[in-house]
Amino acid sequence: MVEYSQILQNLEFINISTDEFTIFEWKPPRSYKSFILDLNIVKQNPVSNIFFHIFKGNMKIVHIRINNLIYTAGSNNKVQFQLLEALIEKVSVEFNVKYDIESYISYGNFSTTMVNSFNENIEDIIANFNNYDIVKELKVPCMVCNTVLPIIVKKSFIENAESYPVPLVYMHKGHAILCFIDKNYDIRGVELVNITG
Ligand SMILES: [Zn+2]
Repeated sequence: MVEYSQILQNLEFINISTDEFTIFEWKPPRSYKSFILDLNIVKQNPVSNIFFHIFKGNMKIVHIRINNLIYTAGSNNKVQFQLLEALIEKVSVEFNVKYDIESYISYGNFSTTMVNSFNENIEDIIANFNNYDIVKELKVPCMVCNTVLPIIVKKSFIENAESYPVPLVYMHKGHAILCFIDKNYDIRGVELVNITG
């Protein structure tokens, strides 16, 4: 059993913002780092409902814009992007269940102290992550590394797919494999793919 709560100890921050200001930010205890420059870059992306990934030095940053809010999570590079996406999906659902944030914002009398207690929700989400059963670790052989890689996928990614098998690219150590995952999370094929950018 993979201890996702343990992996999530590598988180650096979770941020929920509008285009104008940060509504909520969580950081691990004793972290005084600022991610304001990264968040400014994230905010420049106007596209909604698609997860974006940023590699930055030793960090990975994932962000998505949903309605009027931008959700961002950053970690060191020990955390796979799909796990960060699953975390953000969980965080966004809980945040919107707890707060009617869209109407707070539209009334214009929003104070960030209103959502401070969401810190406890974040701590709970991290601590209980295994119980949510929203990710799965697959074992995928890489013909370059000549080894079997543990790859984490979001269940929502497989379950909401339009057709099967679902393709997923896993970049690691300067190369990438394309794996095909069926409805039952079985690996139906693995190919080495070329990358450019
Ligand atoms: Zn490899």
